[in-house]
Amino acid sequence: MPELPEVETMCRGIACFCGEIIATTQFPRYTRRPSPIEPRPRTMAAKLHRSRIMDITRLGKRAVLRIQHNETPVDSFLVFEPRMTGLLLRVSPPTQQHVRLAITTREKQRLIFWDRRGLGTITLIDKSTFEARFGSHALGPDALTITGAALHTKIHSSRRHIKVALLDQKILAGVGNIYASEILHEAKVDPRTRCHRLSQNTCDRIATACSRILHHAIKMEGSSIGDETYRTADNRPGRYQRFHKVYGRSDNKCFRCETKIQRVVQAQRSTFFCPQCQRRY
Ligand SMILES: [Zn+2]
Repeated sequence: MPELPEVETMCRGIACFCGEIIATTQFPRYTRRPSPIEPRPRTMAAKLHRSRIMDITRLGKRAVLRIQHNETPVDSFLVFEPRMTGLLLRVSPPTQQHVRLAITTREKQRLIFWDRRGLGTITLIDKSTFEARFGSHALGPDALTITGAALHTKIHSSRRHIKVALLDQKILAGVGNIYASEILHEAKVDPRTRCHRLSQNTCDRIATACSRILHHAIKMEGSSIGDETYRTADNRPGRYQRFHKVYGRSDNKCFRCETKIQRVVQAQRSTFFCPQCQRRY
């Protein structure tokens, strides 16, 4: 579930680890679904030992720690992809049993990757592998910075529904199911509109809505919905769910026009929208 605003919040929350040196990396034993870890835990722990965390950035829906070993100043990248229920924490986790990785630094801080469902991934890769997997051929522009022109170029020949296209990380990186519905409501575009019918002007409006919604959601530290699995790095819920205009609100009134919000299924995911004020092109 964590999308751009949630992962951005996690990265900001663990920024205090920048510059610190890794003392130990532990992978607690668990009997449930094990997280996909590459390379295997023992190798990863050995590679991380006495390495410095140079910086922490977000790449789409992933957190990336750039790592340098003391003796060999070559970058490697520790990439966390939370997927459904992964969290990066700097305080005690919600439960002990779902801790997948715990890094202790020389400065005695503890960085934890916790994941209830175990679908999140942890990978430590070198620069060339990083570029091969996450270069611009694999990942579109970040959703915080995408322009209407770039969006229009990427989608204008596609017959897919715009909501489905917004979830495609090759088109833009960071948007998931919650924010795609919210962005299209803000932009007043029906999620079932086919991409090739959208003009440059409408793409401008979607890009502007994208930036506005995501920046507001980051300010509110993301959305904690349903079982409230998503938490900030210091284990607090996000607050943006209070500002959702359509997501999870089917049969409630649209705040803009009072029409009932509808739910439809697109590409096996729920979409929420207002059939009155979101125009179908
Ligand atoms: Zn409406």
